[in-house]
Amino acid sequence: MRRVYLDNNATTPVAPEVLEAMKPYFLDDYGNASSIHWYGQRARAAIEASREQLARLLNSRSSEIVFTSGGTESDNQSLFGIVGASRAETKHVITTTIEHSAVLHTAKELEKRGVRVTYVPVGSSGIVNPADIEKAIAPDTVLISVMHANNELGTLQPIEAIGRIAREHDIYLHTDAVQSVGKIPVDVASLGVDLLSLSAHKLHGPKGVGALYIRKGTILRPLMYGGHHERDRRPGTENVPGIVGLGKAAELASECLAEEMERVGALRDRLEEGVLSSVPLATVSGDKSKRLPTTSNISFDYIEGEGFVIAMDLKGVACSTGAACSSGSIEPSHVLTAIGRKYEQARSAIRFSLGHFTTPEEVDYTLEVLPRVVEQLRSLSPHYKKDAVSAQPAGA
Ligand code: PLP
Repeated sequence: MRRVYLDNNATTPVAPEVLEAMKPYFLDDYGNASSIHWYGQRARAAIEASREQLARLLNSRSSEIVFTSGGTESDNQSLFGIVGASRAETKHVITTTIEHSAVLHTAKELEKRGVRVTYVPVGSSGIVNPADIEKAIAPDTVLISVMHANNELGTLQPIEAIGRIAREHDIYLHTDAVQSVGKIPVDVASLGVDLLSLSAHKLHGPKGVGALYIRKGTILRPLMYGGHHERDRRPGTENVPGIVGLGKAAELASECLAEEMERVGALRDRLEEGVLSSVPLATVSGDKSKRLPTTSNISFDYIEGEGFVIAMDLKGVACSTGAACSSGSIEPSHVLTAIGRKYEQARSAIRFSLGHFTTPEEVDYTLEVLPRVVEQLRSLSPHYKKDAVSAQPAGA
């Protein structure tokens, strides 16, 4: 059966060049980067080369990059690290209602430990208003954490404006850029962030490796204790092949960023417009211009998201109802709820996410099978009324 992968926000396939770059570090150059012999030095050199590749993509100094096990660790390190290093008697953290669970659940844990957290709401556009962030600032605010691109809607948050506010008030700013790095330009200097999380497996690198950009001078308490790796920021023997893969993925992304944004953006628009013109009662969620070129989130009235994902999978098309780590949950997505979607629309939201390997033929195949899947599922819905369909123009 034909297989089409439209779930690149969950994870991406490793690029063949990335795999090739990693292979020698399993088989030949397998040294521990802390060893002083030849093997160790080969591994050390490879890690430092990757750090430079990543720093180039982010416009940072290479000494400001710390390798981690992925986005979740980088987010945890940022929140616990800033709060843990602060000596203030009371501490306050600001974040938003649409963050990934790696930030939201960390913030919940901070609350259990006595930290006050403000979850700033976002409007129906799925974009937070910087003025609302500013209003939430209190005398004891130690950290603002706002994601760069939302993983479910693709919406881009105004980090530059929030960065200016954070600097004016002398508060640290963290951004979870797991979904944006490698897809759109991400420049830590112009964003004005102190901390930025990223993950290799979202940009055609391997799983289980990521990085945290830490602006020079930022005071953080480490999450773990052990050896003196990563300038005492992150102990543990480095995942050399993974780090090499992340460096290569960063290099590949920077080589073709502009063309890929245009190519993938055009494919996403073709998919979205095709769906809206062929399926009645379908609505796109989130701001349509300020979003990643890879992502479209569409709600299909009278449909239950999980059923749709299964039916599309039977036709060979992989998509999702939202964050992979929330699949299986019967609750509607917290992001769709946060932007004011009604229960039914949140339950019928489908995320289509495209990537470097998505082709026009795959989009066309999806457009061929999707309307029939929707029709079939709606025909099983007791609430679906044919007259409601004819009363609405297509794409409303
Ligand atoms: N943050 C965002 C926005 C994500 O989309 C994800 C993964 O889905 C993560 C963090 C977690 O990253 P990782 O899978 O590398 O732990």
